[in-house]
Amino acid sequence: MKVLTKKYKIIIDTQHCKGCELCVINCPQKILILSDKINKLGYRYVEITNEENCTACGRCYLMCPDYLIEIYIDK
Ligand code: SF4
Ligand code: SF4
Repeated sequence: MKVLTKKYKIIIDTQHCKGCELCVINCPQKILILSDKINKLGYRYVEITNEENCTACGRCYLMCPDYLIEIYIDK
């Protein structure tokens, strides 16, 4: 049996997020949510929940119009 050891880290630049939700809609794992909190631009911003369920598919990274999401893979 193969044991999965990869770990993924998602970093979101929440202070520049516009809350457009493109990343939320396109996350197949449904682990991105819009926070109730407001950032310095006056927008509700995206947060990650259950990060352990992230598969590092990269859709959120590709969908964000402002390149605010980074994905790191710890092999
Ligand atoms: S990399 Fe994929 S699974 Fe992980 S948060 Fe982004 S869209 Fe969701
Ligand atoms: S796609 Fe980018 S700007 Fe839009 S909600 Fe996600 S992180 Fe924020």
